Amino acid sequence: MNYVKKIAADYNIIPTKKLGQNFLIDESVVANIVFMANVSDATVLEIGPGVGSLTRELLKAGPKKVIAIEFDKNCITGLELLKNQYLNLETINADALKIQEEDLVAANEKIKVVANLPYNIGTALLIKWLKKINLFSSFTLMLQKEVVDRIVANKSTSAYGGLSVICQWLCCTEKLFDIPGEAFWPAPKVTSSVVNLIPHSKPLYDCTLEKLEPFLKMAFAQKRKMLRNNLKLAFREEVSKILEEYGILPTARAEELSIDQFCKLANLSYK
Ligand code: SAH
Repeated sequence: MNYVKKIAADYNIIPTKKLGQNFLIDESVVANIVFMANVSDATVLEIGPGVGSLTRELLKAGPKKVIAIEFDKNCITGLELLKNQYLNLETINADALKIQEEDLVAANEKIKVVANLPYNIGTALLIKWLKKINLFSSFTLMLQKEVVDRIVANKSTSAYGGLSVICQWLCCTEKLFDIPGEAFWPAPKVTSSVVNLIPHSKPLYDCTLEKLEPFLKMAFAQKRKMLRNNLKLAFREEVSKILEEYGILPTARAEELSIDQFCKLANLSYK
């Protein structure tokens, strides 16, 4: 029997939808992810280890430490075997949205996140980490394909939005590969993809996330509307003048703007 199914059977774990439990059972996919994450000697943070299919391969790759945050107590118990075998595995029974990552590592120690994320909170987790980008040296994440497509999207494409701008402003992003539903147990209806994000040494353009994030929300609020309508609140009656100053057509839509242009406009915004 497959390792994952055996552990699940031994520990009475029945995957639930509510916790986004789709366990990876395709071992070649797991091996590929671990290879791409390059974790040798690194401090690795894994979110949602489940019964440990990814965790096991990560530990074999010789990291300094793997810290695994899992919400489901049964899964934590299921990870005991691995903990007996690897002293550098630490498991924490907690909600990944609530933990303070900075408390997990020594000052100046960088974290590599490697995770098959619970898809319902994947974007929220990523945004949470981007807000403290200095803590991290890379993210190798499995997410719903549509979310990965948004992370890496170029401007003037339909997937381009606030998430693309923020991720690419802070990180070099690369989509690695798609994973079909059959690689998981149970198989989800959606296709998944793996993405790599490596933080730039500093953000590409001068701005702050406190300014950029709400500004992008406003700009992309109604994607099909012209930018000058979405930005009325940000620039009041000056909106047309400001767009013109930056060489942006009055009829432009948010998806036509570059990351640089968003940063410049966000710096000027009242809101
Ligand atoms: N990494 C495993 C399991 C992925 S499924 C594998 O690839 O096989 C997603 C996992 O995230 C589940 O184990 C689920 O219990 C866990 N999870 C869901 N919500 C969570 C949260 N808020 N914090 C931490 N773990 C969570």
